[in-house]
Amino acid sequence: MKLFSIFGNPVSHSISPKMHNLALHALHLEGGYVRTPLEDGSTLRQTFEAWKMDGANVTVPHKEEAFKQCDEIRGLATKIGAINTIVKEKGKLIGYNTDAPGFMRSIAPFGVINTALILGAGGTAKALALALKESDIEVHVLNRSDGRLGDFKAKGFTTSNWENFTPKEYDLIVNTTSAGLSDEALPLPKELLEPTLEKASFAFDVIYNKPTAFLSLAREKGLTCKDGADMLLYQGVLAFNLFFGNSLSEAKITKAMKEAFTL
Ligand code: NDP
Repeated sequence: MKLFSIFGNPVSHSISPKMHNLALHALHLEGGYVRTPLEDGSTLRQTFEAWKMDGANVTVPHKEEAFKQCDEIRGLATKIGAINTIVKEKGKLIGYNTDAPGFMRSIAPFGVINTALILGAGGTAKALALALKESDIEVHVLNRSDGRLGDFKAKGFTTSNWENFTPKEYDLIVNTTSAGLSDEALPLPKELLEPTLEKASFAFDVIYNKPTAFLSLAREKGLTCKDGADMLLYQGVLAFNLFFGNSLSEAKITKAMKEAFTL
């Protein structure tokens, strides 16, 4: 019987338990997936071990702290510096980032993308910017303030703040800010966002549980749009398969987890 959990603060809203428990059931695997609200991220490993867990997902605000607490980090997570998946392997905690490949998979239906503008410069922006760069897509990171842009500059990305940004042509515009999550705010002042959208083909918003003002405006401008639901789905599918040594059918996990979005 395997035990898995989502760690974060808050985690009450998370649909990860529903997704993973549906997959456990559909694939006839013995185990359970619970929620663990964690205020102090420094206790993550201790809690994981005390409950003899086999794997976990990590969400806001503990992804960087979880990265530090693993014995080994694999894949693009080594460059991102944050993880959302922990797998116990021969007594060691192995960390992965499945947000980045989950995002790439969810934008695959858009087709060819050569240039992208990322709005926001937080943890999600970092994962997505590095994933796009790995696929040879030219990335520009635009944030309302300068504070978090230094790290992107150091990694070789073109960066701007709202003051020094001039709208130009990008294939894809991605909102990684939390603007629109609990309000009707746009992630960029309208006078900058409108001309940028008018020149673009695709828009993606990491927010998944509501129609945002960003995607409404993008749709109005004729762009092909997508919200963050598939990214959430695919990061879960990839994490679940990692929990079981990548031995399972992705198609079966995907089919089972998709139900969590309709129930
Ligand atoms: P962070 O707190 O690390 O970063 C937030 C970023 O948004 C910062 O750059 C901040 O700018 C900017 N920002 C916040 N509010 C506004 C605003 N009103 N206008 C403009 N910019 C704003 O957050 P994360 O990167 O961890 O998460 C961002 C979003 O991604 C969340 O909504 C989260 O739910 C979602 N998410 C979705 C996933 C999915 O699977 N679909 C997976 C992971 C995250 P500044 O630096 O100036 O403060």
